[in-house]
Amino acid sequence: MPKFCLGIEATADDFSVGILDFNGNVLANVISAFIPKMGGIHPREAARHHGKVVGQVISTAFQEAHVKPEKLALISFSQGPGLGPCLRTGATAARALATYLDIPLVGVNHCVAHIEIGKLATGAKDPVTLYVSGGNTIVSAFEARYYRVFGETLDIAVGNCLDIFAREAGLHQRAGMPLGAIVEKLAEEGNELVDLPYCVKGMDLSFSGLLTAAIRLFEVRQYRLEDLCFSMQEIAFSMLTEVTERALAHTEKREVLLTGGVGANKRLQAMLRTIADEHDSRFCVVPKQYALDNGAMIAWTGILAYEHGKIIPVEKSFVRLKWRLDEVEAPWVGG
Ligand code: AMP
Ligand code: MG
Repeated sequence: MPKFCLGIEATADDFSVGILDFNGNVLANVISAFIPKMGGIHPREAARHHGKVVGQVISTAFQEAHVKPEKLALISFSQGPGLGPCLRTGATAARALATYLDIPLVGVNHCVAHIEIGKLATGAKDPVTLYVSGGNTIVSAFEARYYRVFGETLDIAVGNCLDIFAREAGLHQRAGMPLGAIVEKLAEEGNELVDLPYCVKGMDLSFSGLLTAAIRLFEVRQYRLEDLCFSMQEIAFSMLTEVTERALAHTEKREVLLTGGVGANKRLQAMLRTIADEHDSRFCVVPKQYALDNGAMIAWTGILAYEHGKIIPVEKSFVRLKWRLDEVEAPWVGG
């Protein structure tokens, strides 16, 4: 009898449900994105969106997967890190399902899930991972039971940097595409490298100075928007590539994995491919449907954790807003 897991992702703006079998076949991956009318993501408004769509997204996932609720062996949910109200909405749905169906519950670390879905989708076994999204910017590799953090942002995430710049430049009015993707499109028309702060401190990165400078230059209208987008990408992605390359040289791993929403960017992919080639490593990039936040990654990581006994009782399934990647013991990695 095949076994199935339903995973719920609700760390920030996306509410998503994935259903996988225990062999890693994705049977459903339904995503409902909260799109703010203006400004950034307000946690309570995003949570309200999640609360509204939860029933519909879960039932669509069951329909797509052709799996009945009684056939589920496991429920997993994104336990952190993320925005409190959003996390709690996802966790409440997960607890309700696990209790009603009387099946185990697993709490999944969102950052670990981005790495695990990348490994599942690309066949990478032991990569240096660059995980870049709206909320996170982390260079990591597995060593002695944990995904270790080799470098990370000291302030905002690179996706957030691109998104805020895009909003300030009025690009959010061109709806229908992620803001980072709109910056990418404009950058293709740019060619003049504008002087912006390049900020790598040891193995860590900082994007807030770059963002402030780019916004200021946009406001004085001295440069074309295309050149500003081009320059932001060149500077920010070079910083990410520098740190990833140093981690690769240090760990001597044979694979580089790019994951998270910003991983969809072709220019970033090209830069990382270059360093992977130079170090005789295989370059792996997560497919687009698993690059953004998604329930499939939570379901898959739930299965891995469950197979190593990592279930949690409902009464101890509190959400963990600041749960770091390197706090999660990952006994399923390395055989
Ligand atoms: P996530 O937090 O993983 O859901 O990813 C969302 C982030 O990915 C947002 O900051 C988006 O602007 C960003 N993003 C999506 N597509 C692209 C792209 N093609 N280039 C750069 N950033 C992107
Ligand atoms: Mg998201």
